Amino acid sequence: MVKFFRYICCLLPVGRFQIFTLTMIDLVTNTISLNRGDSHDENRQGESFAPFAIVPNQYQKLFYIESYGCAMNFADSEVVASILNKEGFGATRNVEEADLIFINTCSIREKAELTVRKRLTEFRSLKKKKKGMLVGVLGCMAERLKSKFLEEEKLVDLVVGPDAYRSLPGLISEADGGQKGVNVLLSRDETYGDISPVRLNSNGVSAFVSIMRGCNNMCSFCVVPFTRGRERSRSAVSIIDECKDLFEKGYREVTLLGQNVDSYYYSEDKIQSTVDGQQSTAHTITFANLLESVALISPLLRVRFSTSHPKDITDDVLHTIVKYENICNYIHLPVQSGSTRILQLMNRTYTREWYMGKVDRIRQIIPDCGISADIITGFCTEDENDQLDTLAIMEYAKYDYAYMYFYSERPGTLAQRRYKDDVPEEIKKRRLHEVVQMQNKLSLESNLRDMGKTFKILIEGDSKKSDQDWVGRSSHGKVFVFPKENYNLNKGDYVMVKANDCTQGTLLGSIVNSPQTTDHSN
Ligand code: SF4
Repeated sequence: MVKFFRYICCLLPVGRFQIFTLTMIDLVTNTISLNRGDSHDENRQGESFAPFAIVPNQYQKLFYIESYGCAMNFADSEVVASILNKEGFGATRNVEEADLIFINTCSIREKAELTVRKRLTEFRSLKKKKKGMLVGVLGCMAERLKSKFLEEEKLVDLVVGPDAYRSLPGLISEADGGQKGVNVLLSRDETYGDISPVRLNSNGVSAFVSIMRGCNNMCSFCVVPFTRGRERSRSAVSIIDECKDLFEKGYREVTLLGQNVDSYYYSEDKIQSTVDGQQSTAHTITFANLLESVALISPLLRVRFSTSHPKDITDDVLHTIVKYENICNYIHLPVQSGSTRILQLMNRTYTREWYMGKVDRIRQIIPDCGISADIITGFCTEDENDQLDTLAIMEYAKYDYAYMYFYSERPGTLAQRRYKDDVPEEIKKRRLHEVVQMQNKLSLESNLRDMGKTFKILIEGDSKKSDQDWVGRSSHGKVFVFPKENYNLNKGDYVMVKANDCTQGTLLGSIVNSPQTTDHSN
């Protein structure tokens, strides 16, 4: 009865390239998501790097990196690959031929950590066989456990936190000399802004671009502020340059990533010529400004972003979405609970009514906006009335998708220190099941409302089931599958598709115009 579906990051939904409908609840990871490949993309958990295009023989050593968790972690693996590549290491997908094995970990749920422990056990025999092989643990679990990791897992040589990847080459050479290394220093300014990530198993159409790191919110259930540190924004120039570069390389969609993108804020000095010479003035860039700058790169480049904290998303952002056709009409707006009492315990800093007002505002400014949410059931002290409030707010918001899970206490969080995890697991699961049922209904209703309508779809590649069909996505984030017919289209092209049929997770359609008449413009 238990099927692993996908794993959710607290609030960083952005994985992709999968189509599924919900059939079962994952009772192991306490997680459910519906309809689209966001948040912790289950298809990508444990994904390893594809080798670089350059001839691998030129590399002295090969690294293998396996990634878990949210989109931010996968983006970080791309940064790590870039750092290692500069030092002359090549990537391999074959763990047996690797000289360095890295596992980029997630700490958000206990199950995620158990998966990493199990993988480490599997690496033990490889390490015995290959003299000099190093094993490194990266990411949130490294940050949470620090040097304790070296004590607990004897085969581990390196423990490196999310802000310390620049120190990897030095730590590797020390470990080559027999000295195990730990660097879990969190930084107030590291953004890896100057590092051009090596794209990890990309479809060549869509890419993640990290715009900020860390989080200053202290949601009581969340481990992120402790594992990823204080919030800091990356230089706007480096973000825009990275997006331009992606566009020039043929990418047609970027997702701007951060734990809380709406609080993006970057101040840079501008040098101006004056009568007396030159003068430096501070120029501040908000998230709305950044969105606009990225949208202006080309109308052919779609822009998405994730994640928005309901308290931080502004009217400026909403109006910017409306102003540019290529900024997708889709907002991930985690609610977590529909009960004001529980929201207060979660330290979410908004009430049920306030959240509903935010949904109203989005619908008022962007009438056809797709909205999704994260929902936790069974948080400390939650009762049946709180659960009814959650179900009711889902109906009110009419979410197109949701990432749902039952509460799992994490060491070191505010909730662990302040509250008792007092809702029995079977009740958490039953409530999760109710929430899932509600979302199934809402997702299907949402898709049924789209029947007969025509959407501009960005083609992402062949459908999983048939190379005679394309899979692509609409602006509001829905997955479309449609026959290629005789059109001479390629992935990365836009095409108008009419929705004819649907499941809960996918719209089935047909092309309504030829590529020659495809609207590539605003
Ligand atoms: Fe998201 Fe809150 Fe965690 Fe920050 S503290 S990452 S806003 S859940």
